[in-house]
Amino acid sequence: MIRLTGIAASQGIAIGPAFVYRPEPLTFERRMIQTPLAEVDRLIQAIEAVQGMLVALQEHTQETIGKEEAQIFEAHRMFLTDPVFADEIKQIIHEEHINAEAAVERVSNGLIAEFEAIDDDYFRQRKGDIKDVAQRLLRQLLGLEETTLSALTQPAIIIAHDLTPSDTASLDRKMALGLCTEIGSSTSHTAILSRSLDIPAVVGVGQIEISSGAQVIIDGSTGQLLIDPDEKTLSEYQAQQKVHQQARALEIAQAQEPALTADGYEVEIVANIGSVADAQQAIQMGAKGVGLLRTEFLFLQGDTLPSEEEQYRIYRAIADVFQQLPLIVRTLDVGGDKELPSIDLPKEQNPFLGLRAIRLCLARPELFQVQLRAILRAGYERNVKIMFPMIGSEDELQQALVQLAQAKADLQARGVPYAANLDVGIMIEIPSAAVLADVLAPQVDFFSIGTNDLAQYTLAVDRTNEQVAHLADPLHPAVIRLIQQVIQAAHQHGKWVGLCGEMAGDPVAVPLLLGLGLDEFSMAATAIPSVKALLRKLTLEQAQKIAQQCLRLPNLQRVREFLRSDILQPIP
Ligand code: PEP
Ligand code: MG
Repeated sequence: MIRLTGIAASQGIAIGPAFVYRPEPLTFERRMIQTPLAEVDRLIQAIEAVQGMLVALQEHTQETIGKEEAQIFEAHRMFLTDPVFADEIKQIIHEEHINAEAAVERVSNGLIAEFEAIDDDYFRQRKGDIKDVAQRLLRQLLGLEETTLSALTQPAIIIAHDLTPSDTASLDRKMALGLCTEIGSSTSHTAILSRSLDIPAVVGVGQIEISSGAQVIIDGSTGQLLIDPDEKTLSEYQAQQKVHQQARALEIAQAQEPALTADGYEVEIVANIGSVADAQQAIQMGAKGVGLLRTEFLFLQGDTLPSEEEQYRIYRAIADVFQQLPLIVRTLDVGGDKELPSIDLPKEQNPFLGLRAIRLCLARPELFQVQLRAILRAGYERNVKIMFPMIGSEDELQQALVQLAQAKADLQARGVPYAANLDVGIMIEIPSAAVLADVLAPQVDFFSIGTNDLAQYTLAVDRTNEQVAHLADPLHPAVIRLIQQVIQAAHQHGKWVGLCGEMAGDPVAVPLLLGLGLDEFSMAATAIPSVKALLRKLTLEQAQKIAQQCLRLPNLQRVREFLRSDILQPIP
């Protein structure tokens, strides 16, 4: 048995076979071949194999997700079997005597270039499909295993170096028993995703030597990965898994009840979401609205930017789920670790300090305007609020407000209904904004503290760098003081403050944040039931005492020790 320790990223215990996900870049050479007929045969066999794979994927997706989602594989199959595509490849093999891989690459690149040149959204979208099909075909020709997560056809624990948003876009919740990555921190993409999927996860384990099929255990509460556990360990973990599942079932059964402290103080508990499916889950988990809709998901998948209509439809569908409950839509936050595939941006040396979030939007107003109009339209007769990420100065806020006014004026001129008076807030996630909270507060309706980034930027720690990510801890006294200052400044100006970093759903941090006067807690939907259960055991006065004591502590270790101790015992 091998035991590896990483960062506990999502609670719960998973036991099952490993699925090792290590996508290799496709490398091959252009070769001259002697027997074109045999090469064409090889191509035909590969096409047939990929076709079979696509049929299986289509059926599987239809059963597990839905008919609409499965249609993409039908389109891929039609493209793969289109005689024009195959004939052109065969012709090149016959005429030039080159290997099938080189011929497939040439033909698909040619098609991609042609589609790129057509000024039509539909054709631009198809470009991504061609790429996908060509990659599958090349993998088959090269004898490489299928490497997308959609290849997972039986429940397993995914083991990877890291998972990017595009890797996980095709992830099937039912197939992933748990996630474990070699790198990452508690705020990395994998960690956030696993919490929102409610599957146990451990990240930042370091090098993992394992083959697919090996038996593994993941303990998402202590950050352990166990490979080939012995019988005794296995039965201990099976028992723990049962206890955890029972406790969880009880919390979920009470999730729809209000979030009341033991002394009857009602706390606003809302969800962080990133898709339409998340919206449904948020309601099921007892969210009373959304404190953060990450809109990036619409932008990270395709090769083209989503149009105003596409964005509007999705924002509106989500707003319809929440009706009059608040829905805070955050404008695009790409850059940093999230690359936008549809626009070619220069490589940056320090992307987290670069053209990220509002900076990118202000630099590309044409892109920003489309999103602002879509949000404003979706907010009509709904409780939608807008929020700008990464505001670092008053100038930036003013520029963003000018853009918003422009988007309203354009909609007005078009005669389209929109939310003329929607609330506007900003994320406080750059230290300069926290320091200037008293200057910014009068100019907005609310703040939402983004502690994932506030910790990163305050503590000068790259949250995605596995060597230092554990230092980006929002319970560091410097971050706690900033949070306190932000809340005080906002309250002095009569504005409310939320918090949408991962900290809001961390049971260790919740009593402290409540005691600091936080008005709204926004978290992964799956964290809501346990946070509500915790609040029911706590009084407001206790929380305030905890906060006062915490503020006096000089370092992170002392804060963590104090908050982990039995602070919830009744204070005499
Ligand atoms: C944050 O920074 O705390 C936050 C919620 O935003 P994101 O994690 O999307 O950067
Ligand atoms: Mg952030």
